[in-house]
Amino acid sequence: MFALTEDHRDIRAAIREIAEKEIAPHAAEVDEQERYPSEAQKALTAAGFQAVHIPEEFDGAGADAISTIIVIEEIARVCASSSLIPAVNKLGSMPILLSGSEELKRQVLPSIAAGDAMISYALSEREAGSDAAAMRTRAVADGDDWVLNGTKCWITNAGVSTWYTVMAVTDPDAARPAQGISAFVVHSGDPGFVVGSKERKLGIKGSPTREIHFENCRVPGDRMIGAPGTGFATAMATLDHTRPTIGAQAVGIAQGALDIAVDYLRERRQFGRSLAEFQGLQFMVADAAMQIEAARTLVYQAAAAAERGDANTTFLAAAAKCLASDTAMKVTVDAVQLLGGAGFTRDFPVERMMRDAKITQIYEGTNQIQRLVMARSLLR
Ligand SMILES: Cc1cc2nc3c(=O)[nH]c(=O)nc-3n(C[C@H](O)[C@H](O)[C@H](O)COP(=O)(O)OP(=O)(O)OC[C@H]3O[C@@H](n4cnc5c(N)ncnc54)[C@H](O)[C@@H]3O)c2cc1C
Repeated sequence: MFALTEDHRDIRAAIREIAEKEIAPHAAEVDEQERYPSEAQKALTAAGFQAVHIPEEFDGAGADAISTIIVIEEIARVCASSSLIPAVNKLGSMPILLSGSEELKRQVLPSIAAGDAMISYALSEREAGSDAAAMRTRAVADGDDWVLNGTKCWITNAGVSTWYTVMAVTDPDAARPAQGISAFVVHSGDPGFVVGSKERKLGIKGSPTREIHFENCRVPGDRMIGAPGTGFATAMATLDHTRPTIGAQAVGIAQGALDIAVDYLRERRQFGRSLAEFQGLQFMVADAAMQIEAARTLVYQAAAAAERGDANTTFLAAAAKCLASDTAMKVTVDAVQLLGGAGFTRDFPVERMMRDAKITQIYEGTNQIQRLVMARSLLR
């Protein structure tokens, strides 16, 4: 994977045009009002970019992992909240794609491909974050159904999604907690499914993050993903495919901030000269561009490795997410600095990008956890 194909370049051009014309103009307001980016959802769905990864056999576009990454990156370049529409559709549906039965795929995926439904991923709980296997949400068999009880927290796009991939304990006596966890697809209309209140966040304010509650929530047996006890393994395998998408989000945020900073340096004058002439600032933009290119290359490499099923995918996916998110944090902080006082105001998007970048170091496993994952694959 040393050069993008013409198709990939065409996809970038198409999604960049939509992002700049139809998503960017609303990004500041979405953040300010902490409201869902419905304009973005509409524009992405109209153009078929809301879930490009769904295979053609389930009525999707059948885009490869790199195309999906490019879509997420280009949306994040103008609005990180909006980039979570395709990113979380991939996150929520990946467990089904990896381990679901043919019938379950047919039941769920076409609605996402059509843009009639979105899907969220529900692993985390208040007391089981990094230690996700310590989850308490319980599923008990009742005839052909499963009955779920418990609460998941931090669920991205909860309340907007129709489908939820939910990991729950089915065997509390399993030798290892992870082996007692199964995965289910829950529908928002299932009895006993309740959406909680919205978190008040530092960034990605347009992307709703909520608790979801299961109060004797009854789910038909055919909505279990794979066999009982395989849910945690599926949840982790999913992250190998989706950590690169968070890397793409981070690369997009960083690129957006750098592009704004470069424009500003060219226009702004101090001491009778353009800011672009000061070598101290030139070095800052050179470093930012260098770090973004390195992160982008690793993100694409990890996405391609995941799709091929390479043996070092887990390492690459963790490394890509970690490097890209640390890069996004550094570049956005520097972009605020490059704009001086203007960078500190909401008149320019870099302060929003700095706030949005932070989450990429936290979700889908904090960067401490990514380093643990990397070290484990090196030292095992
Ligand atoms: C906005 C947002 C959206 C999210 N979306 C989703 C979603 O859609 N679905 C979902 O399931 N989850 C989601 N999450 C949850 C997210 O993945 C968790 O917040 C994350 O995994 C960290 O868990 P925690 O918050 O419980 O932190 P903790 O696990 O309590 O960690 C606290 C600190 O301790 C560190 N730490 C923990 N264990 C170790 C260790 N062994 N070694 C070194 N350091 C360690 C962490 O790195 C962190 O710095 C989201 C979170 C947020 C904030």
